[in-house]
Amino acid sequence: MMDGSLNKLRKYFESGATQSYSFRKKQLEKLKDAILKYEKDLYKALHDDLKKSSEESWVTELGLVLSDIRMAMKNLRQWMEPERVPTNLMNLPSSSYVMKEPMGVALIIAPWNYPFQLLINPLVGAIAAGNCVVLKASEYASATDAVMKKMIEETFSDEYILYVQGIGAKVVPEMMNRFTFDLVFYTGSTAVGKIVYKMAAEKLTPVILELGGKSPCVIESDANIKVAARRIGITKFSAAGQMCVAPDYVLVHTSVKEKFIGHLKESLLKFFSDRPESSYDYCRIVNEKQFDRLAGYLKDGRVIYGGRTDRSKLFIEPTILDHVSADAPVMKEEIFGPILPVIPFETMEEAKSIIQQNPDPLSFYIYTGKSSKEKEWLTAVPAGSACVNNSSWHFTNHHLPFGGRGSSGIGLYHGRYSFDAFSHRKAVMKTPAWFDPAIKYPPFRGKLKLLKKLVR
Ligand code: NAD
Repeated sequence: MMDGSLNKLRKYFESGATQSYSFRKKQLEKLKDAILKYEKDLYKALHDDLKKSSEESWVTELGLVLSDIRMAMKNLRQWMEPERVPTNLMNLPSSSYVMKEPMGVALIIAPWNYPFQLLINPLVGAIAAGNCVVLKASEYASATDAVMKKMIEETFSDEYILYVQGIGAKVVPEMMNRFTFDLVFYTGSTAVGKIVYKMAAEKLTPVILELGGKSPCVIESDANIKVAARRIGITKFSAAGQMCVAPDYVLVHTSVKEKFIGHLKESLLKFFSDRPESSYDYCRIVNEKQFDRLAGYLKDGRVIYGGRTDRSKLFIEPTILDHVSADAPVMKEEIFGPILPVIPFETMEEAKSIIQQNPDPLSFYIYTGKSSKEKEWLTAVPAGSACVNNSSWHFTNHHLPFGGRGSSGIGLYHGRYSFDAFSHRKAVMKTPAWFDPAIKYPPFRGKLKLLKKLVR
């Protein structure tokens, strides 16, 4: 059954139907209209899955995707244009260019934390680049999964975009072992990312891996502490900390630690009140498994704010942990929840050694008022991306590429970079027939001097 569906995609791709500018543009338009049509259903589903508010869902899910669609529609013709490049002396009078070719049939796999955006945003790039696509959402955000299935199946034929449901650990290997995809675009944990990478390697299928990790946040003594506390407060606890680019932990200069904690507590109280369980703006943990894992971290330090939990409601209060040792489990694994360890440091070396326990984070955040310190820190910490005096918001700027490095991922997307991610850059050289110099053909004896002039 599955074999037949996947082969249908291959056939459709090979028919060339997805290649023209007008086809791609039309599909982007259809996707935009479908999202707007399903806006209310998506809000409800995101609320059912994670208790996200409509406002948060707009900014971090629907609105974000729609702005990528608008950008793609506006720039598609230019993105598709072959890029002219110069030709070296030896090959003149040839002309050279780079052609953007669709990869073919792509598989997009998404996690549960931003279940809509992380599935549909890569789809925008895939459509713009002229691919056929298999979509696999996370089974853990089942309400959103159901709405997206309905939306996609109503909008696109299943020989063009196929929506597959089921347990990821079962259906993804089934598909990847039986069918050769031309690209696998995976977002999720590093552990599963490695499994997907191995399966792809068997068939030399290229991958884009958007993985996780511990994104550190450094606060220098010269930072605007009040602003830092507010920005870290919102980005750490938005989606109840279940965000891949959330600040995982804070390294704060000893001299401003108390001030930072004071402002952070004040901000959290303002954002979510002293009863965050009834706050319109505060999300829930996705399931019991994640809840139990997170609740376990509460003993890894001294709770100085929050700390209350309710398993029956999958609720964990926004929590600040003090006195956390660098070798506690909460400092070894990605937290991915509303628990923020705050660790003081004296010297940059000391802070760096803690960051280096988990190298190549997905993002790195530095709060400082001095541009010399900003440069020093940005150079000192290799990371997928970074913010200065901010956290996480860079993800929403579609002019910036997004992706990890090393254990936080391979490849980039968003905006123009999504088009590139789903395109092969085919190098083309075109040579006229009217000039065919003898220097390029044997016998070569005696031509060395001239060849040295032509090839250098
Ligand atoms: P996950 O790895 O458990 O699941 C992600 C997807 O993989 C799901 O669709 C699931 O069905 C599928 N899957 C599960 N087991 C599989 C297997 N054995 N083989 C193939 N596919 C399988 O991840 P998650 O818990 O859903 O997401 C959380 C992680 O994702 C965190 O580490 C977070 O940092 C990361 N993340 C990264 C980004 C990013 O953009 N880099 C964004 C969001 C989340």
